[in-house]
Amino acid sequence: MSLAENIQKVRENIAQAAREVGRDPGEITLVAATKVQTSDTIREAIAAGITVCGENRVQEMTAHLGDDAYAGAALHFIGHLQTNKVKFVVGKVDLIESVGSEHLLEAIERQAEKIGVVQDILLEVNVGGEESKSGVAPEDLFALAQKAAVLPHVRLRGLMAIPPAAHAPGENRPFFAEMKQLFVDIKGKMDDNSSAMDSLSMGMSGDYMDAVREGATLVRVGTALFGPRPPMGAPH
Ligand SMILES: *Cc1c(COP(=O)(O)O)cnc(C)c1O
Repeated sequence: MSLAENIQKVRENIAQAAREVGRDPGEITLVAATKVQTSDTIREAIAAGITVCGENRVQEMTAHLGDDAYAGAALHFIGHLQTNKVKFVVGKVDLIESVGSEHLLEAIERQAEKIGVVQDILLEVNVGGEESKSGVAPEDLFALAQKAAVLPHVRLRGLMAIPPAAHAPGENRPFFAEMKQLFVDIKGKMDDNSSAMDSLSMGMSGDYMDAVREGATLVRVGTALFGPRPPMGAPH
């Protein structure tokens, strides 16, 4: 199938999952996870209707920005962000989805202040409690959200999660349900800031329909659009 056909198929699946639970498909945005793709492929995806690209490697993103590859689409940073690289990301992307520590939050605030922008962010939650994953533990989320809420150059838009790799269909659905609950709880507790909390980013190629069924507003899909990526570390 062509990229345009894959986009169409994923959109249909999103709409179907939304309708199953009585949601308006228009509430859900498909984020194309473009890691390892070329600037030309990114342009092709945007020409075929992709409205948001998600990048998770700073170096690749910087190269694509130099090519103006994302023209016509919004850009989200979805990967692990080191504090020494925030200057390449803050003010260059519409949303940083992967803020999982106070240290990173503060680095983003400092850079945003320096260049005079207000950076939209999501807090990444380590919903599976995995040792190896970044993200704030669910029990520490409210404290981090409160810190974000008082920073003048950061605007908290919601939450993001990457659950453990699933081994069977439906396996991650409880994590998505837990995320939705956390989202509702935090939004409810945030008073002033809650009006800006409109985004819940969860679901990837293997499980985005379950994520939509549980309330995702952003799904980050790579493989189902672009095909399999080379294994990590392989030349490409
Ligand atoms: C690569 C990536 C995705 C998309 O993964 P697929 O399984 O290829 O759909 C989603 N989110 C993040 C953070 C990613 O790095």
